[in-house]
Amino acid sequence: MVHCTKPQITQIVTTSMSFSELGLIPELLKAVTEAGYTEPTPIQRQAIPVVLAGHDMMGGAQTGTGKTAGFTLPLLNRLARHASTSTSPARHQVRALILAPTRELAMQVFESVKMYSKHLPLRSTCIYGGVDMNPQIQELRRGIEIVVATPGRLLDHVQQKTIALGQVEFLILDEADRMLDMGFIPDIRRILALLPANRQSLLFSATFSDEIKKLADQMLKNPQLIEVARRNMVSETISHIVHPVSSGLKRNLLAHLIRHEEENAQVLVFVGTKFGCSRLAHFLERHGISADSIHGDKSQQARTETLEAFKSGKIRVLVATDVAARGLDIEDLPSVINFELPHTAEDYVHRIGRTGRAGKSGKAVSLVSSEERHHLADIQKLIKLEIRQEIVPGFDPEPDFFDTDGGRRKRGAPSAAAPRNAPAESAPKEAASTGERKKRPERGEREQRPERERAPHRGRQPSHIAADGFDFSKPYEEPSAIPKTDSDSTDNLHKPQRPIAFLLGGLGRKH
Ligand code: AMP
Repeated sequence: MVHCTKPQITQIVTTSMSFSELGLIPELLKAVTEAGYTEPTPIQRQAIPVVLAGHDMMGGAQTGTGKTAGFTLPLLNRLARHASTSTSPARHQVRALILAPTRELAMQVFESVKMYSKHLPLRSTCIYGGVDMNPQIQELRRGIEIVVATPGRLLDHVQQKTIALGQVEFLILDEADRMLDMGFIPDIRRILALLPANRQSLLFSATFSDEIKKLADQMLKNPQLIEVARRNMVSETISHIVHPVSSGLKRNLLAHLIRHEEENAQVLVFVGTKFGCSRLAHFLERHGISADSIHGDKSQQARTETLEAFKSGKIRVLVATDVAARGLDIEDLPSVINFELPHTAEDYVHRIGRTGRAGKSGKAVSLVSSEERHHLADIQKLIKLEIRQEIVPGFDPEPDFFDTDGGRRKRGAPSAAAPRNAPAESAPKEAASTGERKKRPERGEREQRPERERAPHRGRQPSHIAADGFDFSKPYEEPSAIPKTDSDSTDNLHKPQRPIAFLLGGLGRKH
């Protein structure tokens, strides 16, 4: 199959617009109204007409922009001709395949599909690894039009011949960059080879590395490029602070900071490894702070329950790895604490995006040990902000913390949060960065492997955000019209991107 990628950049509509102007059928407009949406977001305004017109699309957008409705609504619109109330499985063939990198994200997308399709007799399901295949097989046997899946489990069904992909008309690859990070690209290629050549395909990615471009070349035919700038995480609503601290004192400092938060204020804590994740949650529990953890080695049921408990406020602290927390739509979170800094600066932006949503204020706190200073430098460069550093008395960093360029702050400044002369409890050194035995993942468990088995980030651009020229110092930017390109090369994707509006993080705001 020879596809050439010739992205045409779509003009952004800057005037306000209603969903009904986008040409969606009444069943979908009703669902949108019931969801409480009054206006399409920028990505929706751009993507919906393109998808409705039958074009392939490459979407530069991440979670939080409204991209799920941006592709789901026109997809459902186009699938409506297959809607049938017949109970015969033959009348319900798989027509659309939506691939997502993690189970949580797949479930979130599935929830959206269900919500937007509620007035249409179209069937949808979500299939992911780590759970019994049989209920999924039963569902697939009944006949399903829309399948949301993680790649590994989908291939398991293909292998067991419990899914037929011969009638697929639509393929959507969500968070392609994350698929790449998680090593799923070979699986994606296998899936592509199983799909009819004559189909409409959409690819969403927050970044466009060479590998993603190669994949897009293989997957898309004359795609239209739609881009929406990521939400500006450095808006005034989020305050950033770094607490330099020795790694051995981090756990106690974390407990200390949580205790000094407002009563019962919820906190999302990020760690680097699955092993460290559970240990840290247990540590907090032992210190009287209600906490649980979410990471790739937990059963799907446990992950779902934990997330629900956190969302409903039953748990105060959720300790998470990046992959498990990726794309989670957790509203109204007052603070995020980086127990360990992420290894890629871009993940810092993803992590702190869980707070300060919808125009509310949020705090991004990072506990940084001496060996993490280079990550801090990368993050500051990326977000174009020198983050304030403050030592909490009693929780000093390693003596070499300020040795080189990490030492911008003078030592000894008091912390507002810290009690005077707070003694540091003795703490065993956190074993987070060691320990975890590598087990060979079973086929159906591959969605669980990410944290330890991600492809190394060496060779990647430190960040797409920095490279694309997006100005993080401005909270939300007005959509600026992207001129139609006169070149048909994918190289356009590497050209600095123009700042484009983001709506959702600023719901309720007016640009
Ligand atoms: P997404 O980027 O698809 O994960 O969407 C982020 C959040 O925005 C979800 O909670 C959606 O329900 C919500 N959302 C999507 N479209 C709109 C809209 N047009 N107006 C308000 N909220 C929306």
